[in-house]
Order: sequence, then structure tokens, then C-alpha cells
Amino acid sequence: MSAHSPAATSTRLSDGRELIYFDDPGRPPRTTSPDARGLPGRAEPGEVRYDELSGDWIAVAAHRQSRTHLPPAEACPLCPSTSGNLSEIPAEDYDVVVFENRFPSLGPALAELPDSLPWGQSAPAAGRCEVVSFTSSHTGSFGGLPYGRARTVVEAWAHRTAALSALSGIRQVFPFENRGADIGVTLHHPHGQIYAYPYVTPRAAQLGARARRFYDESGGRATLLGALLDRERTAGERMVLDGTHFSAYVPFAARWPLEVHLVPHRHAADFADLTGEEKDELAEVYLRLLQAVDALYDTPTPYIAAWHQAPLDTVLRPAARFHLQLTSPRRAPDKLKFLAGSEAAMGAFITDTRPEQVAGRLRSALAGIPAAAAEPSTGRKARA
Ligand SMILES: [Zn+2]
Repeated sequence: MSAHSPAATSTRLSDGRELIYFDDPGRPPRTTSPDARGLPGRAEPGEVRYDELSGDWIAVAAHRQSRTHLPPAEACPLCPSTSGNLSEIPAEDYDVVVFENRFPSLGPALAELPDSLPWGQSAPAAGRCEVVSFTSSHTGSFGGLPYGRARTVVEAWAHRTAALSALSGIRQVFPFENRGADIGVTLHHPHGQIYAYPYVTPRAAQLGARARRFYDESGGRATLLGALLDRERTAGERMVLDGTHFSAYVPFAARWPLEVHLVPHRHAADFADLTGEEKDELAEVYLRLLQAVDALYDTPTPYIAAWHQAPLDTVLRPAARFHLQLTSPRRAPDKLKFLAGSEAAMGAFITDTRPEQVAGRLRSALAGIPAAAAEPSTGRKARA
């Protein structure tokens, strides 16, 4: 199973954006079709401004106001193209596809960003934003993918992490998925995104600084996330699942009503740093985790799946461990937590769910879910 190597086929859309097909192993070789839309040239990049008050970079992407918002299936940009809907994907069918976002917050320009800019100056928003379509099917969600397809997505994330990390000026690569219109999803079609930033994001910088301090204090022998994983596994009460290469738990001080961290046992930096066996297990446990989340309520639970990868920064990178933070604002069947005064203004989280109870609910849900059928993903019949 660890030899899961989907075929990656790169092509260009009519406005010059790159699109890459990741076909499940065993598919016949792909011949690409041209994008018949004749799109106008790409929009000018937005800009980034440096906020001296906080030390954070802010991307100004006013051009994104015109982007597609919740189109019906017959106008979906992520469905395969038909004569009536020339979509972003000029193909009759596909397994997984990655392409440059038509309305990017960052890019397409690539450039080194200085550490800061004076007040009143801005720089082009360098970087790259990609869309990852998990399936050619308009409905469903990641948790419903067959194992082989999820494994291909994991391979696509690894491929893109390596490629984006090598681009000029990129300092952090962030794959993520927003699921559910309640948290601002603008397309129903199951998909995620990858942002390649020209700076280390505020959250990664905060977590990275703490990880680096712990690493230094241990003389470079231990990592913070590794230590927290060990403590959670010893305590046990917040554990959700325990694998050979990955374990998941609700963190002791979870911020969100629903929050799970999925952490590798080995100190890996990012998707591209995982072994084949680790990626095999990751695809399986991630599917099970999402299925458990969706078993908590009668309706799908909105979530943010945030894949934290080590920044491309010589100081932070050695101490930062790859992991998933899966969070949801849902705190009851019909209630979402909104970030208001304390959280949004002060970053001071107040949660009204006990992490131990959330972990118990997730364990119960998992008990009702069979292990993912890790069948080899050959043959068109397995298409999701
Ligand atoms: Zn669609």
C-alpha cells in the first residue's frame, strides 16, 4: 500500500494558470484537453501591508469581492466541463485536481517580502493560492471518499507542499479545508485550498516561537508537540484514536467547542516529509476522524481542517511538527459559537464544552465506524 503513487499531469488553463491532475494509481495515462474558455489575462495581484501595531501582514484582496458565490451544480467551476458548463476543469472526468485560484488572495507574483514595510507603503501580494478538488462529484464531502481517493489527496498535498516550498519567497505552506456554508464556504463542491505565504503567519509564528523555546531548553532533544502527545497518550482521557504512526486527541486546553489534534508520532515537518506508510495511515485515520465528527449530529458539522506544517524558516522549522488542527464552532445541534468580544478582540477563548466530554463523544462515534476499507484504488468503479 505504501507505493501509492498517483500520476500527476500538469497543464495550463487559458489564462495561464497551472492545473494538475492527480489520477488514482491504475488509471490509463491522461491526455489533457485545452481550456476552451479563452479567459482574459490574470488579474493584478492584491497587495500586502504591514501592520506596525501588531507586527502582522495583512493581505488586501479587494478583487476577490467578485468571486463565484455558491453557484448551482450546473454552473459549478469544480465539476468536470460539459458543453453547458465550461468549468475550471477542462476534462470529462478526474480523480483529484489542483489548480491556481482564479481569485487569489496571494499571487501570482512571486517575490521575497522584507521583514516589514514602512507605514504608508504596500507590496504586491506575492505567493500562490491553489484549489484542491477532492472528487469530480459535486456532492458529498471528504469524509465520504473511498480510502484510495483520500490517499491520492494526501499524495497531492505532499506533492504541492514540496513544489510550493521550492518557490521563490515562500515561507509557509498551509493546506486547509473549510467545510460548510456556515463558516463561509463559497462552493459546495468538496474541495480544499492551499495557501503559500510570503511570510510566516501570526499563528504559526506564535506556535513556532513556543516550540523553538521548548526545543532549545531540551538541548534540541525534545519537541513541544511530541511532549504534549506523550502526555495526552499517558493521560488517556482525551484520546480519540491511537494508531501506529498517528494519534488524535482533544487537547487539554481546547479553544473550540469541537477541536481535535491529529499528530504524527515521529517528528515530521510537513506532508512532504512523511513516509509512504505514514501517508497510508494518515488517509485512513483522517477519514475515520471526519466520519466521527459527522456522526455527532444529524446534520453535517461545519469544520476547519488546518494542516499545520513547519514554516520554511531556519529558526522555526527544526522545532515545528506537522499536525492537523480540526476545529468546529458547533456547540449544539442548532448553535454555533461566534467569535465575539473576548475571542475576536482579545484572542482570549472561553469555551463551554469540556474537552474530556468532547473526546468521549468522539470515541463513542468512532466505535460505530468500521475501519476504512483500505482497498487498492484501481478500476473506474471506485470513483467517488
Ligand atoms: Zn461541482
